Formats: sequence, structure tokens, C-alpha cells
Amino acid sequence: MRGLRVSSIVVGLALMLGACHPGPSSVDGRRIAEANQHPGDWVSYGRTYDEQRFSPLTQIDDGNVGRLGLAWFADLDTNRGQEATPLEIGGVIYTTTAWSKVEAYDATTGRQIWSYDPKVPGDWGVKACCDVVNRGLAMWKGKLYVGALDGRLIALDAKTGRPVWITRTFGQDTSYASTGAPRVVKGRVIIGTGGAEYNQRGFVSAYDAETGRLDWRFYTVPGDPSKPDRQPSDQPLRDIAAKTWAPGTWKVGGGGTVWDTIVYDPKLDLLYFGTDNGDPWNQRYRGVRGDNLFLTSIIAVRPETGKYVWHYQLNPGDEWDYSAVQPIILADLKIGGRTRQVLMQAPKNGFFYVLDRKTGELLSAKNYVTVNWAKGIDLKTGRPIETPEARYSDTGKPWVGVPGPLGGHSWNPMAYSPKTGLVYLPANEAGFPYQEDPAFKHEPLGENLGLDLSGGGKDPDYAAQKAQLASLKGYLLAWDPVAQKAVWRADHPGPANGGVVVTAGNVVFEGSYDGKFAAWRADTGKPLWSFDAQAPIMAAPMTYQVGAVQYVAVMTCGGGAFGLSAGLPGLKSGHPHQLCRLLAFDLGGQAKLPPLPAASRPPLNPPPATATAEVVHQGAELYGRYCGICHGGSAVSAGVTPDLRYTPLLASDGFFDVVLGGALRSQGMVSFSRVLTHDQAAAVRAYLIQRANDTKAAQAKGEDLSAG
Ligand code: CA
Repeated sequence: MRGLRVSSIVVGLALMLGACHPGPSSVDGRRIAEANQHPGDWVSYGRTYDEQRFSPLTQIDDGNVGRLGLAWFADLDTNRGQEATPLEIGGVIYTTTAWSKVEAYDATTGRQIWSYDPKVPGDWGVKACCDVVNRGLAMWKGKLYVGALDGRLIALDAKTGRPVWITRTFGQDTSYASTGAPRVVKGRVIIGTGGAEYNQRGFVSAYDAETGRLDWRFYTVPGDPSKPDRQPSDQPLRDIAAKTWAPGTWKVGGGGTVWDTIVYDPKLDLLYFGTDNGDPWNQRYRGVRGDNLFLTSIIAVRPETGKYVWHYQLNPGDEWDYSAVQPIILADLKIGGRTRQVLMQAPKNGFFYVLDRKTGELLSAKNYVTVNWAKGIDLKTGRPIETPEARYSDTGKPWVGVPGPLGGHSWNPMAYSPKTGLVYLPANEAGFPYQEDPAFKHEPLGENLGLDLSGGGKDPDYAAQKAQLASLKGYLLAWDPVAQKAVWRADHPGPANGGVVVTAGNVVFEGSYDGKFAAWRADTGKPLWSFDAQAPIMAAPMTYQVGAVQYVAVMTCGGGAFGLSAGLPGLKSGHPHQLCRLLAFDLGGQAKLPPLPAASRPPLNPPPATATAEVVHQGAELYGRYCGICHGGSAVSAGVTPDLRYTPLLASDGFFDVVLGGALRSQGMVSFSRVLTHDQAAAVRAYLIQRANDTKAAQAKGEDLSAG
């Protein structure tokens, strides 16, 4: 009964609003700030400037969500990772897909209206640590903005999908990659980049939304002191940051890229963004011990000038990839009897931070997942109380850190409901063996971490890897940010699960890496509904209403950092299919996905393993440094890119045509001849042959150690 009554009120409201359903040209700062006046639309990446991802829609609620069914689906023309949150306005849903493509669909039928392909060169894929993904669009006064992987910032006419202007945010000779959703604030398109593992220097930029002209740029780490940037970051970098670095480290970039969160508070007129790790990860190779500002920091600036206001650093002298890039949510919380204007972040390092967003003062921090690198955060100094073993570059000993670089939580959006007062976040527990590479030197291709990534090294029992595997967990966590404690959690088979949306109907939606799309009661965590999406889900769902009907939409397909690199022997949390789609659901929806194709994998047929243990180990180290980031740790692919144990190229010299000759360059597999000799490539092949033979032997014994 309750559902019926609420539905009829919503229908009436929608009919009233339907008469003046404003389109893309109506989207400006006021429209985004007052998004609740048009609750049916989703006009910005996190729906509103505060990025709470809380929808006031109530047609779908905790009483009727069990009747949710597929309304329509659209197949995408890429099988790489999908991370975007679509926008919806005026009955049209807009989204980005892998390779920075943009699609517009009728939001009620899924009929394609237009499609735009920026034709990103395939070989840019090797510069993207974490897949050729894109997280979404910004809209402003009739235009859509997409940051293409290769650094082009493109303004499209929302009606036609045709480019209005294109500008470059970084040069083609760099190793930056752009995957984040732009935001538009006061007529400026704000966007950062990725690339902190590739000798790059982090920055965030503001471009005029009408013309694409660069307005200001804020660098996050010091540059060449003899060449001032003449940017708003110059002064704070000179006064605060420079003394926390060894002289000359700017020559290797420094890191601190701004690849995800950018949030705006119209009341305080402050723009917030978070920065990534240092480059290389291992701090020893960044010169001296020091805080290395502004790495792993949240920074507040003025949106019109980029002028620095405050910063808070999460991990001084980080060497674990514990970035501060993860989504920030703004909210007003009652803390200690006072209403505080806060920002909240659940960054990779596993602590949930609540900061006063006017001043940057740390109000509270508590670990939301298992954490072994620190005993806590000192509220007086704001600094972590580190456990000494975590400093692997001091001890010289391998150390399995929890969280690892996947993070207790990464880019996958979290949500906050002002109704329940809870934050809903996709949490991970995934350890990582940090081990210094004593022979490290910077190379022009691949990641520069300063770590031994041979996956167990010379240990025949793969002890570090087994510890890593044992640590793998993933769950949807409902977190009380005032009390700093878990209220409920829903366990998934493993980590890397999807982003979240929560609604006024007391429902929270999340997809998972095993291919389920599901709903829970927001207040209690009671499971309410689930759907077999036929592919992993990493992206965040969103919800919108057109006419009388509320929809929930989500994109499918695995990939990203975990999907590409975390192929681990024995990992079972994935999904065998990679069917990339945009799915939309409504109450009583009757559409059906086509039957799944049969999963098939050719039998393993490697040549015999004849190389010496020394050569195999050398191959393991080189594989770990150059190949594992895309083809999976321990040569076990999680299914997004080819599993090299199975490639027929192991038995032929075609292997060298690809690895050194660049024969598959257009598909993203560039030549590695700049960093590998023929002998070294042969060692990589010997390692792959060994891994393939080990797997074949395990399969014969009935212990299939291959993932997915
Ligand atoms: Ca990073």
C-alpha cells in the first residue's frame, strides 16, 4: 500500500514537472547546486556538487524493489573496463565508455541517439596504469565535456555529439593518461590526469567552458626551481612543499597526479581535489626522507583563480600508493552537539577521514577495513602512527601490506544518505607484497615503482602471494561517519566491486565483480533484490525519472587496476564473461538479456620448460615490471587482456615480433624494445612457459590454479 501511495504522489509531481522538463542548455551552476528541484535528473558526476550520490526519488523503494526488472539494455562496442556514471537530463542518458567514447541514448528505450569516438590511439593504453577506462562526463549550458585518455579535453554539442572545441591538457610525448570525469564550476571545466607511476608531475587545470582556453593550473609537486610555473601553485610549492623534497627530484616527475575526485562547495566557494602517490613508490628512490608535499593530500583552492587555501596530507612520505584521490563527499554532520561542514573520504590507506572543509582540520579518522601499516591517526598532529615494518625501504624486508595499492577503497564511488546518516562504500581487503628492488633504475616505458614485482621472488612456496590471496575480501560497508563505526556490511566473493547509489526510498544499489547487481535496505542492510548482469560490475549505478517512471542504470564490464593486474592463482571472485553494456531497470521491467555464450578456453599447450631457474627468475622480475600490470600478476590474466600462458606465440618467434617488434601496437601492445633486449624478452618467454607448464601440471592433478 505504502508503495502505491508514494508512487501516485511521485507520478503527480513528475507530470507537473514534465511540462517544463529542461534540457542540457539549462545546466549551469545554479542547476547543479539546486539539483533537488529536478530530482528526476542526474546532471553532474556525483549528481550534485556535494557528490553524495543520494537520490530523492522514491518510486522504487524498500517495499517494491523486488519487482525491479530490466527495462532495456544497450550493448557497447568495447570489451574493456567500464567505470562511468552516466548523466541523464531531459529524457536522454549520456555516458562514456572505455577508450573515451561518448554515447547518448533515449533514457526510456535505450535507442541510440548519437555516438562519438575520439579515436584514441591504441598504443596510449600502455601509459594507463589501470586500463583504458573513463569515468564520465560533465554538462554545462548545452555542452558535454569528456577527458580523452590521450589528454584531449573535448566539448561536445549535447544535441548532436559533434565536437565544439578540443584542447590538449598534456603533450603527446608525456606518459599522462586521462580517465576522470571533468566537473564544471563557475564556467570553468576542471580536470586532472593520471600517471603518478610514470615519471609525471601532477596538476589540475581549469579551462573556459565556452572556448577551451586554459584559465589556471595548479601543480601538486615542485618543478624545476629555475623555471617558475607562474601558476597559482607557485607560492605554496615554494613556501610549503619544496623543503619536503630532496633537491632535483623534480627531474623524475614526482607524481601526485589528480586522477579522480574534484568536488565543489558553492557556499564556501572552495574547490577540493585529492592527489596520488609519489614516483617512484619506494621513497628511497625519491632521495631523502621527508613529507613530499603535496603527495597523498586533499587540497582546497579557489575555483576562479586556483589560489591555494589549505591542504591535509594523509600519508607523509608515502611509499605504498596510499593516494588521496578517492571520492570526496561533502555533508553537514552533527558532531559533538555542533553542526560541522565536513568532507569525508575513505581513501586507499583504509582510514575513514572526516575533515572540517572550511579549514582542513582533521575531526576524526578510524580504520574502516583491516589495516596493518598504522596503529591509528594522531588527531593532534593529523599524522599516522606507522608500524615500523611497513617501511620496507628502511627494513629491506618484504612486507605484505593491508591495504595494498588496490586500496581499502578506490575510485568506485561511495554514497551518503542524509536520511540514514550512513555512508555506503565498496570496501576491499587486498594485501600486497611490497619488496624493494635493490637494482631499480628509471626506465622510459612501463611503471617506475622501485619494487620487485616478481610475484613471490625466489621463494618456491610463493609465501607472499599466498598471504596476499588469503587477504582478499570485498564488501559493501554501511559506515556511520559521526560514530566512526560500521553499522552493517554485505559480503561479496572478493574485492573490486562496484560503486554505489542510495535513494530516499531507503534502497542502496551496488554491483559486484562476480556479475551481480543488487539492492539492500539502506538502514538495515537487508538484501532485497539481485540480478545476474552476466559480467563484472565496477561502475556506480545512478537513478533518474522520465515522465512517471523511475529507472536505475548501471554499466557492466570488469577491468581497471584490479581486473587487469590482479590475476592470482586461485582467485575465484571474477566472472567468466566480459559483456559490456548499459543496463536500465524499472518496476515490472520485462526485458531479457540474451543467453550467455558458452565459456570456452583452449587447452594449455605450452612448449616444454627447458630454461634454467635463474633465467626463469629473471623473466619473472621483468614480467612483474613490464607485463603484469596489464596481463595479470603471476601470468594469470583476470580475463580483460590475453592470458599469456595460453598464447600459441610461446612456441614461436612471433613472440618477439609482438614484444619487441610492436606487431600488435594498434591494440595497445607497444614494442618494449626500448627497455628489453632480445635475451631479456626470451627470459620473459621462459618464465611464461614455466608458468604454463606449472598450471598444466596442476590441472592434471585436479588443482586448477588459474583464475577466471
Ligand atoms: Ca597511484
